[in-house]
Amino acid sequence: MNKPSIEQALDRILPQVEKPARYTGGEFNSVVKDWEATPFRAALAFPDIYELGMSNLGLAILYDILNRQSNVLAERVYTPWPDMEAQLRAASVPLYSLETKHPLSDFDLIGFSLPYEQLYTNVLTMLDLGGVPLLASERDGRHPIVIAGGHATYNPDPMAAFVDAFVIGEGEEVIVEIVEAISNLKSQISNTKYQIPNDKGRLAILRRLAQISGVYVPRFYDVAYNDDGTVKNVTPNVEGAPVRVTKRIVPILPPPVTRFIVPFVDVTHNRAVVEIQRGCTRGCRFCHAGFVTRPVRERSVEEILEAVDAMVRETGFEQVALLSLSSSDYSHIGDLVRAISYKYADKHLSISLPSLRIESFSVDLAEMLKDGRQTGFTFAPEAATEAMRRRINKFIPDQQLLDTAREVFSRGWRTIKLYFMIGHPDETLDDVQAIADLAKAVLKEGRKAHGKAAQVNVGCSTFVPKPHTSFQWLPLDGEESVREKQRLLKNQLRGPGLKLSWTEPEQTLLEAFLSRGDRRLGPVILRAWQLGAKLDGWGEHFNIGAWRQAFAEQGLAPEFYARRPRPMDEVFPWDHIDIGVRKNFLGRDYVMSQAGETRVDCREHCFACGILPTFTKTRMNTPAEAWECPPVVPPHLRGVKQSDVIPLAAA
Ligand code: SF4
Repeated sequence: MNKPSIEQALDRILPQVEKPARYTGGEFNSVVKDWEATPFRAALAFPDIYELGMSNLGLAILYDILNRQSNVLAERVYTPWPDMEAQLRAASVPLYSLETKHPLSDFDLIGFSLPYEQLYTNVLTMLDLGGVPLLASERDGRHPIVIAGGHATYNPDPMAAFVDAFVIGEGEEVIVEIVEAISNLKSQISNTKYQIPNDKGRLAILRRLAQISGVYVPRFYDVAYNDDGTVKNVTPNVEGAPVRVTKRIVPILPPPVTRFIVPFVDVTHNRAVVEIQRGCTRGCRFCHAGFVTRPVRERSVEEILEAVDAMVRETGFEQVALLSLSSSDYSHIGDLVRAISYKYADKHLSISLPSLRIESFSVDLAEMLKDGRQTGFTFAPEAATEAMRRRINKFIPDQQLLDTAREVFSRGWRTIKLYFMIGHPDETLDDVQAIADLAKAVLKEGRKAHGKAAQVNVGCSTFVPKPHTSFQWLPLDGEESVREKQRLLKNQLRGPGLKLSWTEPEQTLLEAFLSRGDRRLGPVILRAWQLGAKLDGWGEHFNIGAWRQAFAEQGLAPEFYARRPRPMDEVFPWDHIDIGVRKNFLGRDYVMSQAGETRVDCREHCFACGILPTFTKTRMNTPAEAWECPPVVPPHLRGVKQSDVIPLAAA
């Protein structure tokens, strides 16, 4: 079906679905280029509904970068809600891009953003609806190249059957290189501009992509297994594919996006966003984002202020979020917040600063920004006993939390949200009871200031061991153990002023087996999707029965991937993906955790995690102040005091 027929069909379909504005496009700042006149066409796909996809910063960055290229157009596509999916299928209308209403199959490239594993089956729904063969092995020269990137692709192999090439790491530079490589090869291969005549052409493109730093093309790697089902090795099967694929990073954060698309409907985060810092040096052992986004790089206060100005001017948003994994660690946080509060004092602009440390300085910062009085103050202590805090390397004494809570309540906030995590295999019921006790103690502080109006909301997630973290060897906690811990919290955290939310154990199990799965999960994902698994992140659609049946039919067990303690010398399905942080560093950290030993923030003391040797050249060619890691010492200067070394870039 072509664009005019799709538009005609939409006139009939859209009045029959919930929130039709999800599917119309035409929003302020969306970019509509001339399809015929633009030689390279990319669809940027977020495999969840519009409201979530529109809040994804990664996709907004790529949309901006690609649309700035004169010879490229980038358009958006999201997963339709089941009512729209049914209408599209009934009318045989393919899934189309919002900007020009072209079917997915018409694009040269489809780029999926995969921030978390619960979105995997939505990729299949979108490819299927878009008229693109689900299996990479069934695509030929007529089909788009399907790529995927994002935090859930640092262990790419569970999705290897469906994706032609994965981008490992940060996409800002590599996306341009990918587009260039495909464009050049297409024009070389074919006399007809941008048509690939045969499979050979497609293979040539994929071989070229495999040579781009940070790109993993699964078909060029073979996986061998041991008799016990664990991975023996993953080895390249063609010349030119690297033995290990090292993640891409941008040495200096590029200018932030400012022309955000302004949606017609309310989306999850209806705001502009500027990333003030990327990476985290705290070393929380469970935190996947903390490890995979190292090293820490910061933006200057001036750049952030200019970006906020531009965002307000170009979007009209009244909310701007200053994003980072740990805002309090941004070196110039005081200066930044003071400058913003001064500059926007009498403007209708709400600035939010998520991920603040539990200390009274954070309350000062939030107060200066005049943010959060309606929504509450959020802290993430994660654990409530010294033993568990040592295990996870996140140490916040009770007194510090209570003092900060008192400060928050006394300055007018009435609600505090606390995020905890249960489910570490060494956790006892006493550790869980301590969570309830601590939440009640915080409420007690609130009552002193606000009486019955004080509120403490406790969000209690379940720990999922993630690849590339110090806890990648740990098993997922048993289902009955998690239920018992949740029962305790539900019994304890009830009544006025307390609210508890939690994750259902089956959903945690899904995340756990997909996170640390191997390539054999491809057929499981496909079968589960055929059996009705879709929109897995949505409680009302989540279908664990489909997954269990799919596992059984493939002769595999979810528990093998999720609940098995893994020996220290096991080869992991993601060992051929190099995030810069070394496996032996993570192993040492895991052993330290078992012994209850902690590490300080690595800005205070570099623990030689591997980032510097991995990115030596990049670090040496980047101004010293751009990264938080220490400068690289050239070999002839090793042994000389660090303070006597002048970084190359500063010399
Ligand atoms: S190289 Fe050192 S400072 Fe940099 S992230 Fe690793 S441990 Fe931290």
